[in-house]
Amino acid sequence: MTTTVITHIAGLVTNDPALGEGPLGLIEDAALVLDGETVAWAGPASRAPDADHRVDAGGRAVLPGFVDSHSHLVFAGDRTAEFNARMSGQPYKAGGIRTTVAATRAASDAELSANVARHLREALRQGTTTFETKSGYGLTVEDEARALRIAAEHTDEVTYLGAHIVAPEHADDPAAYVDLVTGPMLDACAPHARWIDVFCEKGAFDGDQARAILTAGKAKGLLPRIHANQLSYGPGVQLAVELDAASADHCTHLTDADVDALASGNTVATLLPGAEFSTRAPWPDARRLLDAGVTVALSTDCNPGSSFTSSVPFCVALAVRDMGMTPDEAVWSATAGGAAALRRTDVGRLAPGARADLTVLDAPSHVHLAYRPGVPLVTEVWRRGVRVV
Ligand SMILES: [Zn+2]
Repeated sequence: MTTTVITHIAGLVTNDPALGEGPLGLIEDAALVLDGETVAWAGPASRAPDADHRVDAGGRAVLPGFVDSHSHLVFAGDRTAEFNARMSGQPYKAGGIRTTVAATRAASDAELSANVARHLREALRQGTTTFETKSGYGLTVEDEARALRIAAEHTDEVTYLGAHIVAPEHADDPAAYVDLVTGPMLDACAPHARWIDVFCEKGAFDGDQARAILTAGKAKGLLPRIHANQLSYGPGVQLAVELDAASADHCTHLTDADVDALASGNTVATLLPGAEFSTRAPWPDARRLLDAGVTVALSTDCNPGSSFTSSVPFCVALAVRDMGMTPDEAVWSATAGGAAALRRTDVGRLAPGARADLTVLDAPSHVHLAYRPGVPLVTEVWRRGVRVV
């Protein structure tokens, strides 16, 4: 195996408190040794072991590649007009998804796959090395299974979201649609997915429906995650904890009981500030969750309707500016937090044994992600030990 030492790193975020300072395990004037696809060593540059190749980071910051644990990339069509109308005063409602469903059903496999690839390249350029993505714009047995097959060509983190909204054909009989989602559609989709998700919200699926859907998915070997408490208070967060979901995503409207439930369980609270930005909605209160001891992840929710950004750095800046997170907390949540939301320990950290997925910033510190919002700071991205950007 070929080894590479990256040296002259001004600030290295390892996310391993045993290796450096604080929860980020920050090491100043650091070096990182890669052995093939994995991290072999991290520590002070003065003590770095020899390696076959030497790379000078030039006094830049290095951090784990971002882990974006929530996106909806298998789609076609464009919702510029809806965004424009919303920014002109119309409120966001869950039903806008139907526009994308129609366009997605009409698209070819090749068009959908190319669209996923385009957005993954875009995300990679911004430092994202691990990506979850969902179905949810097909809403028929064939179209949902197709979306998952296409997603699985691009990532291992594939989520069955047949329960995004009730399919338009079943609008008059939501119970029949839940039967489809938990029956034939699940049978067709389970082989292509790792996760099952449901949009638990007024206008989408209520708590009993969400419980039935996630429970059926678990019985087929899928792991639950849930769109919870985005637009209003509701049962989603407590259901997530009850079912040991890996993540409750959005968490914008939380009661004290919701926060207590998250603090007592293994469910990560994934905050998606791109959605609040793009819908002019109130921000989720990250400070309240962190102070209660909840594990918080930050992700993009990249989708054509409510959050059309693939930029984790943008979400980090929003979380620091508007959600009460410190820059250190936001960077942790966008890396180790995202990994926790996917129940992964091989990514989201740069410690020996971890995957050699890393992002180099044209800045001396990870804090610049929030300090210099909107600036394209990502200058290098390495994935499995190979520089890809
Ligand atoms: Zn979503």
